[in-house]
Amino acid sequence: MPVRLSDDQQRVQEFVRRIARERVAPRAAAIDATGEYPQDMFDLLKELGLFALPFPVEHGGTGSMLSACIALEELGRVCYNTAYLLLVQWAPFGALLAGGSEEQKRRYLPGLANGELRAAFSLTEPQSGSDVARIRTRAERSDAGYRINGSKIWCTNASLADFVVVAAKCGEKDGPGSINFFVIERGTPGFTIGKKEDKMGARGVPSHAVFFEDVMVEENQRLGVEGKGFKIVMESLNASRPLIGARGVGLAQGALDLAVKFVKERQAFGQCVADYQGIRWMIADMAIQIEASRHLVYSAAQAVDDGVRGKELATLAAIAKCHSSDTAMKVATDAVQLFGAAGISNEYPINRYFRDAKVLQIIEGTNQIQRNIISRNIIAD
Ligand SMILES: Cc1cc2nc3c(=O)[nH]c(=O)nc-3n(C[C@H](O)[C@H](O)[C@H](O)COP(=O)(O)OP(=O)(O)OC[C@H]3O[C@@H](n4cnc5c(N)ncnc54)[C@H](O)[C@@H]3O)c2cc1C
Repeated sequence: MPVRLSDDQQRVQEFVRRIARERVAPRAAAIDATGEYPQDMFDLLKELGLFALPFPVEHGGTGSMLSACIALEELGRVCYNTAYLLLVQWAPFGALLAGGSEEQKRRYLPGLANGELRAAFSLTEPQSGSDVARIRTRAERSDAGYRINGSKIWCTNASLADFVVVAAKCGEKDGPGSINFFVIERGTPGFTIGKKEDKMGARGVPSHAVFFEDVMVEENQRLGVEGKGFKIVMESLNASRPLIGARGVGLAQGALDLAVKFVKERQAFGQCVADYQGIRWMIADMAIQIEASRHLVYSAAQAVDDGVRGKELATLAAIAKCHSSDTAMKVATDAVQLFGAAGISNEYPINRYFRDAKVLQIIEGTNQIQRNIISRNIIAD
């Protein structure tokens, strides 16, 4: 069933679209070119209260994943990195909301909602990305709580975060059941931030290695009951996965916007490039794929808002993430093609869309892993 936006959601869309066009778009190229963290964009999102969007009403938000997706789409249409600032705040939020105690929620959620606190989420290690069960970071029981040792890579926002939600194994066992999440605050002795990745896309939001050397955390810094927290937190990622899809829709729409403008202005063989049938069909195919992705993302987000969970949500969210990030890559590739050599030049913005689109097919579970989830759920039915 097509998703109809409520009046409130339409207002969010119009408002964020205007802000994106007027205040975010002019900064996008410089953020990508310098690779510097866009503090001014963070301050803007904070000032506008956008961090709170998907938070439950009692934590100052709208409680609407669909509203959050709409905002992300509009920002992603003009600037991948500014959209990323919202997303990177929302992964630890989802983990805390799903697995956190009342005390942890009181301590961290209001700050995440109003932008006073920044956070990061750290699961990936050098030898294990998709294969989460192979992480080696260990949390050994001690009198005071836990002693954490290990290292992580690709921890996005680590250098700016007030706290990081970190996965570590407890006990002697080695399977996913032994993994738990811990909140580790900046400045905790033994917790250090390593090298910043030099990335081809997503360049404005830093990703770092992080190290834990005899980091002592208290029992109340673990999320959920020992042995159960991992499942709860990972399931919470299904509920935030439509957001990655929304970024794909926004990116693809932005690439199409730029390509259409270019082919309408560019002349070849005595006529406007946009007047060639072959070009028009490319534009039509790009639009068809974007609209299909938008519907998949909105309906997955609506399912989250309607309380759908478990296998049904996992499948819907994986389909939305996979289709929209594949669409972003395909549309951005075609958009570069339509620009000709200008698509390769750094003087034009389109190759930024191409580089950022590739990131979307890899993060938050690669698209192969999404296809594994989808097929597993279908075959098991
Ligand atoms: C910009 C960026 C930001 C990131 N931010 C974070 C972050 O904040 N926190 C965090 O924890 N991680 C983060 N990551 C890491 C990301 O989650 C992992 O890169 C991702 O999960 C894939 O892991 P990997 O790179 O180790 O690839 P691998 O798991 O080693 O996979 C290599 C290839 O094999 C494929 N593959 C693996 N297993 C299967 C299978 N069973 N079936 C089919 N194909 C398979 C993969 O799809 C991929 O194509 C980030 C990554 C990037 C690029």
